[in-house]
Amino acid sequence: MINRKSRDEIKKMIHAGHIVALVHEKMKEVLEPGISTKELDNYAMKVIKENRAIPTFLGYNGFPASICTSINEQVVHGIPSENAIVKEGDIIAIDVGATYGGMVGDSAWSYEVGKVSPEVHKLMETTKESLFAGIEQMKPGNTLDDISKAIEAVANREGYGIVRQYGGHGVGHVMHEDPFLYNYSVGDKTLIKSGYAIAIEPMLNLGGDDVFVGADEWLVSTVDGKPSAHFEHTVIATDDGPIITTKL
Ligand code: MG
Ligand code: MG
Repeated sequence: MINRKSRDEIKKMIHAGHIVALVHEKMKEVLEPGISTKELDNYAMKVIKENRAIPTFLGYNGFPASICTSINEQVVHGIPSENAIVKEGDIIAIDVGATYGGMVGDSAWSYEVGKVSPEVHKLMETTKESLFAGIEQMKPGNTLDDISKAIEAVANREGYGIVRQYGGHGVGHVMHEDPFLYNYSVGDKTLIKSGYAIAIEPMLNLGGDDVFVGADEWLVSTVDGKPSAHFEHTVIATDDGPIITTKL
C-alpha cells in the first residue's frame, strides 16, 4: 500500500532532506586521502544531532552507524570503520538518512577522492545522469516503469551493469515503505500519484550486474571486483513537478 504524503508531511520531509543535504556538504568538505570512514561517520552524526534530527540508519535492523560508506567495488551498506581509509583515486558512496518530525530523508552520493581514472569518472557521471533521468519521470500519471526504464536506458547506453537485488523505495514515515522501485524495467504499471515519495537510487557497475553480501552480512560488493557508483535522492511527486527533498 503506497501512502500519499500530506502538505504537512511534505514540509517535514523537506526539512529532513535538508539536513541530509547538510551532511553531504560536510562530507565533501572533509573527504580527503587518509581519512577513515569512521571519522566520516562521526562528522555525519554531529551534523544530524546539531540539527535536532535522528540518524535514521543507526540501529536500523541493527546497523551500527549513521551512514553507509562503500568504497570502489563495494556497492552499498558498508559499515564505517577506523580501518577503512580512503586513498587518492578511490570512489566512495556515502549513504545518509535523517529523521525529523517523524519523517525521513534518504540520499546517497558517490564522491571521487582526488583524481580517479577517466573510465571511473564516466561511471560516476553516468550514474548521476541516470538518477536525474529517473527523477524527471517522477510525476503524476506516469508509472513506476517509466522511472525504471529511464534509468535502465542511460545504463545500457554505456554498457554498465545494473545492480538487480537492490533498488529504490517508498520513503517517509519510515525509511523503507512501498513501493519497491527497480532500476531496470519489469513492466510495473503502478501509477504515480501526487504525494508519493520515493527514494530513487540507481547503482551502476563498471562491470557486470552481479553482487554478493559479505561476511558481516551488510557489505554488498561486485562479484567481478569492478567499481560501482550509487546516487540517490528522496523525491516527492506533485502536480507542479517533482520535489527533491535531499538537496540544498
Ligand atoms: Mg540511502
Ligand atoms: Mg534508499
